[in-house]
Amino acid sequence: MEATDATTSATRRGSLFVVGLTGGIGSGKSTAARLFVQHGAVQVDTDALAHQLTAPGGAAMPAIVDAFGPLSARPDGALDRAWMREQAFGDPSRRATLEGILHPMIRAAADAELDRVDGPYALLAVPLLSERGGYRERMDRILVVDCSLDRQIARVMQRSGLTREQVMAVIAVQPTRAQRLAMADDVIDNDGEEFALAPQVEILHQKYLRLAQAKRTAAGPGHPDD
Ligand code: ADP
Repeated sequence: MEATDATTSATRRGSLFVVGLTGGIGSGKSTAARLFVQHGAVQVDTDALAHQLTAPGGAAMPAIVDAFGPLSARPDGALDRAWMREQAFGDPSRRATLEGILHPMIRAAADAELDRVDGPYALLAVPLLSERGGYRERMDRILVVDCSLDRQIARVMQRSGLTREQVMAVIAVQPTRAQRLAMADDVIDNDGEEFALAPQVEILHQKYLRLAQAKRTAAGPGHPDD
């Protein structure tokens, strides 16, 4: 019997191996993710989904403008990020309002992308992974990209042009380095030069291929990739 779309995605949901990728802003997540993708991993990036949702015509914009007023949108209809940064980072209740709008939408979009993954395993990038948010139940392992606070600050300042204070304000609302490391199954050390990432990624990729295969085998026959 042919599997329907619904059973196909249910089967995938059960047997797709999902690595959660997290790390503070500027830790090197995107750089590491690019290397995994070069090896054939499929990335589902919640940051990119958040950008899509808040782009001109983005699905989250009506609710954001409703909650924060017309200043929250630029003339083209996209989220005014600089304005929102000022609003949300200084004020926990405004941040909670924004997260209350965005997080469920990002989560639903990530689930939909995971259901469509066609590859050996998925890399689900969640910058602010925590106990909240409901992502962990989809993850088989958690990979943390780690670097010292000083390096993190320097890299973000260089990349973004934000001041040290602005970067610190962003970091202050993220899980701490210790909290991230406490939830890690695997850690990539990105305190050194960028070229030191590749061999670490290579080893982890091979490990994830093995674990993904074992999960598919355990899920039994009938999987669309079999
Ligand atoms: P994240 O996705 O975690 O915010 P990125 O991968 O975008 O971090 O890295 C932040 C910035 O630091 C980027 O400009 C990137 O090119 C740079 N970078 C990343 N890793 C290193 C490294 N090991 N050495 C020097 N620069 C790095």
